[in-house]
Amino acid sequence: MPSRILAISDLHLDQSRPDITATLLRFLRENRSNCGALFILGDLFEVWLGDDDSSELADTVATALSEFAAAGTAIYLMHGNRDFLIGDAYSRRCGASLIDEPYILQTGQGSVLLLHGDQLCTDDGDYQQFRQMVRADSWQQEFLAKPLSDRRAFARQARQRSQAATAVKADAIMDVNQDAVHRWLQDSQQAIMLHGHTHRPATHEFELPLAPQDDPPRKNPSHGKIQAQRIVLGDWDQQGWFAEISDEGIELKQFPFQS
Ligand code: MN
Repeated sequence: MPSRILAISDLHLDQSRPDITATLLRFLRENRSNCGALFILGDLFEVWLGDDDSSELADTVATALSEFAAAGTAIYLMHGNRDFLIGDAYSRRCGASLIDEPYILQTGQGSVLLLHGDQLCTDDGDYQQFRQMVRADSWQQEFLAKPLSDRRAFARQARQRSQAATAVKADAIMDVNQDAVHRWLQDSQQAIMLHGHTHRPATHEFELPLAPQDDPPRKNPSHGKIQAQRIVLGDWDQQGWFAEISDEGIELKQFPFQS
């Protein structure tokens, strides 16, 4: 992997927010040819109902991303909970490679576990149930076979239900569950995680208990714990956010919409 890598997530691009699209185009112009890879960690779009749902916004974004890729930066696209129906056809138009979660990124500073982040919010049982349903291949095939008008109606309903539920859920329920964070890191044998989704940009440092199988007593100078890090990308509602991964480590950065 190249030495300068950028990661963004949660742009929630939508026709009603041309300012966010404009900021993405500017971000791509400013970083053209100056990084080796761009990771988009989910929720690039506010909603995605299938690659056959053509729109000016989808065209604009595909053109900008494919030009950015053609100028020398590999683009990796991960699904979020709003745009998990982006398919191979659209990602090809973007000059991007679709990647599965979890994705382990090798860097000069070690490896980093990349996720969208919604799978960490295990306290939200209703949401996890919904996620399990809509992430199943059979459900997706059936859904994508429906006329677009039906898919739009489903998306509207899902959104209303989610907004109504969000209004009454405690703040903490919609954040990550720390045990889930530990489990994802332990299962993938990583100590650094980068994700979006929660719209709570921050860098968290914590002690990660070693998984039992990795913790024989003779190799246990630090009482079975290692230093771990969780970096959370911000959403692009009021400003832009990105993570810059370089030889210096991972840095979370923000910038205003208007320069
Ligand atoms: Mn999300």
